[in-house]
Amino acid sequence: MDNNFVIGSEEVPLRSRRFIELPLPPLYTHTPMTLPVHVIRGSKDGPRLFVSAAIHGDELNGTEIIRRLLKQTALKRLRGTLVAVPIVNVYGVIHHSRYLPDRRDLNRSFPGSDKGSLAARVAHLFMAEIVSKCSHGVDLHTGAIHRSNLPQIRANLDDPEANRLAKAFGVPVLINSNIRDGSLRGAATEQGIPMLLYEAGEALRFDEVSIRAGVKGIIHVMRSLEMLPPSRARQRKQREPFIARSSAWVRAPASGLFRKVCGLGTRVKRGDILGLIDDVLGGEESEVVAAFGGTVIGCAEIPLIHEGEALFHIARFEDSKEVAGQVESFQDEHAPDDLDLDQEQEEPPIV
Ligand SMILES: [Zn+2]
Repeated sequence: MDNNFVIGSEEVPLRSRRFIELPLPPLYTHTPMTLPVHVIRGSKDGPRLFVSAAIHGDELNGTEIIRRLLKQTALKRLRGTLVAVPIVNVYGVIHHSRYLPDRRDLNRSFPGSDKGSLAARVAHLFMAEIVSKCSHGVDLHTGAIHRSNLPQIRANLDDPEANRLAKAFGVPVLINSNIRDGSLRGAATEQGIPMLLYEAGEALRFDEVSIRAGVKGIIHVMRSLEMLPPSRARQRKQREPFIARSSAWVRAPASGLFRKVCGLGTRVKRGDILGLIDDVLGGEESEVVAAFGGTVIGCAEIPLIHEGEALFHIARFEDSKEVAGQVESFQDEHAPDDLDLDQEQEEPPIV
């Protein structure tokens, strides 16, 4: 591999930082559209890591994670190349929408084609200009609209490199997920690029714990790729993440007003009441009951629910009790300090 790194028509030399705008089809209002890309190159060549966010245009935690990542002073000691794309689905973000204006899901449109739908063209550009020039990737997501996720990594854990990086990221829960057809992760894996998918928080909301854990997670991955030197802070004993054996959603048994009685990270047993659904006119109350035990890794956040809607995502682990303990210490570790909330805060340090 030579040392050259070219994105669009721009060559980015070692020891430099560039902001590149790749042309995309304009809006029908004649407004030009571009895909914004930050490229940071270290003094030596090495791994080439892309970090992408907002492939689903309403999933915003990742965009904030990248903004904070790019301010890390540790990047002065970078080896290799960091390619950060804070907003992939620029069309969706404008409308606060998961989708593209043609109503397609970009993360079902990979690897795309330059003659296909708008979604396929964006996917094709991303593959040609970002993925094919990188050696590793992290794609940042949140739960869907009105649903939040406990910070979790999804990866093909049968691939040794993806497995190693998934564990290095440092969230308590890993999910060995099957690759969905048309996803960025599927297309990157086809090209032999190990990829992690980080899922945390809720669409259209910033969640501080998810954002902090995401920034730290990427730094940990970069250290484990030797793109950054090891931490000088005293090494905290690395938490061994838990791999979910399987997971499934508990659905609403009735329509009505939904109240949760447990939240993300809660350990539940089969038969536990997870929430209640009340009839708007004061009629019957229905119990949402866990059909199996495990840990809540995703849940609905909106109280307006129709029968059959997904309410709680429960993952099964070998040892749910230990998972609950780890999740609690993880949340404490990343929680913002309430006392400092109204003061101007510095970027949280990475330790
Ligand atoms: Zn998503």
